[in-house]
Amino acid sequence: MNNSTHSLVDRDLCRRFDISGPRYTSYPTADRFESNPGHQLLVDALQQRPASDQPLSLYVHLPFCSTVCYYCGCNKVITKDHNKSSRYLDYLEREVDMQLASLAGSRQVAQLHWGGGTPTFLSDEEMMRLMGILRSRFEFLPDGEYSIEIDPRSVDPRRAHLLAELGFNRMSLGIQDFDPQVQEAVNRHQTFEQTRDVLLAARDAGFKSVSVDLIYGLPRQTLEGFRATLEKTLSLLPDRIALYSYAHLPQIFMPQRRIHETELPKAEEKLSLMAMAIETLVDAGYVFIGMDHFARPDDELALAQQAGKLHRNFQGYSTHAELDLLAFGVSAIAKVGPVYAQNAKTLDDYYGDLDAGHLPVRRGYRMNDDDALRRAVIQELMCHFGLDFAKVSQSWSIDFASYFADALEQLQPLAEAGLLQISAQRIDVMPKGRLLVRILAMAFDAYLQADRKKAPEGRQRYSRVI
Ligand code: SF4
Repeated sequence: MNNSTHSLVDRDLCRRFDISGPRYTSYPTADRFESNPGHQLLVDALQQRPASDQPLSLYVHLPFCSTVCYYCGCNKVITKDHNKSSRYLDYLEREVDMQLASLAGSRQVAQLHWGGGTPTFLSDEEMMRLMGILRSRFEFLPDGEYSIEIDPRSVDPRRAHLLAELGFNRMSLGIQDFDPQVQEAVNRHQTFEQTRDVLLAARDAGFKSVSVDLIYGLPRQTLEGFRATLEKTLSLLPDRIALYSYAHLPQIFMPQRRIHETELPKAEEKLSLMAMAIETLVDAGYVFIGMDHFARPDDELALAQQAGKLHRNFQGYSTHAELDLLAFGVSAIAKVGPVYAQNAKTLDDYYGDLDAGHLPVRRGYRMNDDDALRRAVIQELMCHFGLDFAKVSQSWSIDFASYFADALEQLQPLAEAGLLQISAQRIDVMPKGRLLVRILAMAFDAYLQADRKKAPEGRQRYSRVI
């Protein structure tokens, strides 16, 4: 794979195709789920789970944060009151037991992820309690991937060791930008030393992979300042780096209204920030995995991609083949067999549903065969930047060229622009098309295509690609 920066970033193409698009952590995308499908949707899916020995993946959403970062688009609750998290754990326990009452098949777990919010908002005792709830009900496999999102402002080296003792072996750590001017503008004050100490402690405690998040396009960001952030970040040798584009959508995300639009980098400056960041990461030896993610060449994500064994799920890229995903907590999304189910997004609704004695499912969807096929195609494109028509035709008993004739026609202008090559046998995404892979995936999204037919200039549903 040619992974040189110059082949990844084509500024003209980035300008031309800077349109909004989904991230495809699911297909259909979560905005297509039906509202109020009824909690029975998930109950049935749990009960109908084949009695296989396939282990599970678990996701727990912990929504609390003690301060707000103005750029944030996550589902969170800002508070300093720990009574709130203690009550939340009571309800999480009830939700776990309610799901288990319907769950057929294996209770072994190969993947666990605590996301947020800030999972490390929980006190030591609360984290021990939550892990105890899970471990007493599920069997955690010894070689599983157990990950947690941490905020270095709420984790010191001692706590990093506690997390390892609890069984976590992967950590993702928010940085965004070390520049004090930027930190001031987004209300996130976090020193390099705080971050370094946690990361070193995580290594010392035996964490197998440490990933960090950076964001370009934040207010007051400059090329020099962000380059310094990248250099400091690289000095920590993280296994993976996620480089996100800041999407300014203040009409949707309230905290973003506190960002001064005049301080945001203009489109060309943002493009320069992105190009410089990618160049710096690639020159430092990181491999572009896809969709904002970079990894060291010896990291398991990079190795899985090379071996054609990379997958994509709600947490992004993964080395695990798809497992049924049980999800707990506000706004969490489960996927069990062909069913997606998303929980209530507010604490009041979440508690209210559990008090009423049923699962707090508020949105959901049961995939049909066409969804499952398109999902597999989109996943293949996003994980491996290519599609072998015969392989898809054989696996799904279709004729690829005729089934996806519309999609192939849609891709033609993108092929002419140099983003991909289409032959009679396959599609290959060119290096300069890789940053824009979600635009290619959109051609296979039946829901988006139907929308476009109805309203070609329809409203912006998704964050911009760059
Ligand atoms: S970015 Fe993270 S820590 Fe900041 S408000 Fe959002 S969820 Fe909380």
